Amino acid sequence: MPTLTCQISQSLRNALEERSKSTGESISHLVSSALSRCFGVPMHTLFQVSTSGALVQGIYERAVSSKFLLNYGDFGLGTFVNLDGEMVVLDGAIYQVRSDGKVLNIVDDVGTPFAVVTRFAADQDQTIENASSFEEITKICDQYRDSDNLFYAFRIDGHFAHIHTRVMKATLDGLPLAKAAAVQPEFDFTDVDGTLVGIWAPQFSSALNIAGYHFHFLSEDRTKGGHLLECSGKNLQVGVERLNDFHLSLPESEEFLRADLTKDTAKDLAYAEQIHKKENT
Ligand SMILES: [Zn+2]
Repeated sequence: MPTLTCQISQSLRNALEERSKSTGESISHLVSSALSRCFGVPMHTLFQVSTSGALVQGIYERAVSSKFLLNYGDFGLGTFVNLDGEMVVLDGAIYQVRSDGKVLNIVDDVGTPFAVVTRFAADQDQTIENASSFEEITKICDQYRDSDNLFYAFRIDGHFAHIHTRVMKATLDGLPLAKAAAVQPEFDFTDVDGTLVGIWAPQFSSALNIAGYHFHFLSEDRTKGGHLLECSGKNLQVGVERLNDFHLSLPESEEFLRADLTKDTAKDLAYAEQIHKKENT
């Protein structure tokens, strides 16, 4: 992280020190927060559109536009209106991985019912020498998290011996996610260079988000991708960013306003998001 050296008035310095003493925040954090507010640059902020609970209930309408999303982040994941594929946001570009396996770079304004993005700036860089499964990668990533109570962004670049993904197939608005997920196509790639774009969300956020790790994959040549179910690789470069600011943008559609979001949807979400035996194919 770069260091800033500058001169400020004694009164500002006193105010900074007082605030730091009373809140326990470091001077660096306070200065960064003030500058980020002044210039409108979000910092360590996870920006989320809608909730996983709403998605589980089948609320797949446009909540915000893809261009709006890019105002809040250059890195993240989500889906599109009517669950039409998997969204990968990487290096400021939005990609749509479609259920036929094709990947589109989305330049027009399209809608998203659910997405999470951040302006990715790694706090730490690590290397995973060898990982034979997704579970192994998540166990190693656990060591890079210093808390179970914050959000984290993980960017993992490298050569993957194997990648297994699934891609949501466009469905009718209102069909519950668990039913929509039962007919999702899956893809296997071997010996592929690419990036895993991931968010780790704390258990307490499970009503809003997918608790634990959620990764989407995009190949370096931008032709392959999807929601990650399994992978293995060597010499993977891992960037980790701690996210202690959470911004939730809720839809204002009639459908969302009238939905019953009181149910615990964690089980349905786990079914939809993890590897499972397909029922209808
Ligand atoms: Zn996903």
